[in-house]
Amino acid sequence: MIRVTVWNEFKHEREFAQIRHVYPEGIHGCIAGFLGEEQDLFVRTATFDMEEHGLTEEVLQKTDVLIFWSHALQEEFSDEVAKRVREHVLSGMGLAALHSAHYSKIMKLLLGTSMTLKWRHGDKEKIWCTAPSHPIAAGIPEMIEIPQEEMYGEYFDIPRPDDVVFTGWFSGGEVFRSGCTFTRGMGKIFYFQPGHEEYPVYRQPQVQQIIKNAVRFCAPAGGERRELCCQEVKRQG
Ligand code: ZN
Repeated sequence: MIRVTVWNEFKHEREFAQIRHVYPEGIHGCIAGFLGEEQDLFVRTATFDMEEHGLTEEVLQKTDVLIFWSHALQEEFSDEVAKRVREHVLSGMGLAALHSAHYSKIMKLLLGTSMTLKWRHGDKEKIWCTAPSHPIAAGIPEMIEIPQEEMYGEYFDIPRPDDVVFTGWFSGGEVFRSGCTFTRGMGKIFYFQPGHEEYPVYRQPQVQQIIKNAVRFCAPAGGERRELCCQEVKRQG
């Protein structure tokens, strides 16, 4: 069983009726809903307003993969909790950061670059699969069309990814490394660009399949967490 915690800021859906209309159950509720249908996944949710943002030591110890969506409260997010999440990723917890979570404290801490990019509201996107043999691309066609999406464009200031599984094209001509994997310590990270809150992107079956694949890819191998250590080793005998 892979234990998944779906974290969402859960601010826009409560503030704006048109966003609540897209995700009445919240983005976390939508994602937990389709992941919860999978036999091998145990899913819980957490949101910003919970104590310690719902990401206590106890919750993180019981999380194999954290899915993270954030946008308006990046600066308000607790430094202490961000560091705690980083430590868990380094010891093997998987992390799937979605859409504007590229700019979260957690991602900046783990990846170390500015994470800046270009953006424009109200575009459409074609997601091309640029690593078809990657586990996150399993069952995904060579191109997915997202009828409405916010444009995210290059240059995207990330460290060189392990793999660029998906590359986005937008009608303005921009391209973007939309699905990238990274390794930090023992932890596997997937960043996935689609999912602007105004559009029902997480209701698209192919997008859901990518997130399901990402959970299984980012889960620690054999379900095992390993603490990183720094120690002097004496030669035996
Ligand atoms: Zn957005």
